[in-house]
Amino acid sequence: MKNKIPPFKLIAEPLNEEAKKLPPFKWADDEIGKRHQLGGKPQFIQNAEIPICPECKKQMTFYGQLDSINDEFIIADCGMIYVFLCFECNESKSIIQSY
Ligand SMILES: [Zn+2]
Repeated sequence: MKNKIPPFKLIAEPLNEEAKKLPPFKWADDEIGKRHQLGGKPQFIQNAEIPICPECKKQMTFYGQLDSINDEFIIADCGMIYVFLCFECNESKSIIQSY
């Protein structure tokens, strides 16, 4: 059973002019907005939270995390979305954590 995916850093690349022109965060730390990731360990902002699969009741596998984009597209307070899945049941769950 696949329980852990090797870590990948995801680099957000703008796909059009509108995306290229989005202003960056005004006040956030440098790292914020660049924490997109596939696999590895979730970089939880609050306490660790690993969801349980609603079907098989086992801990789900961390699939990845998506960061806030800028002050306009911000997840709560500079938060992130964490995505988990169960490879056996094809269930997924996402959670949000923020400062
Ligand atoms: Zn399951």
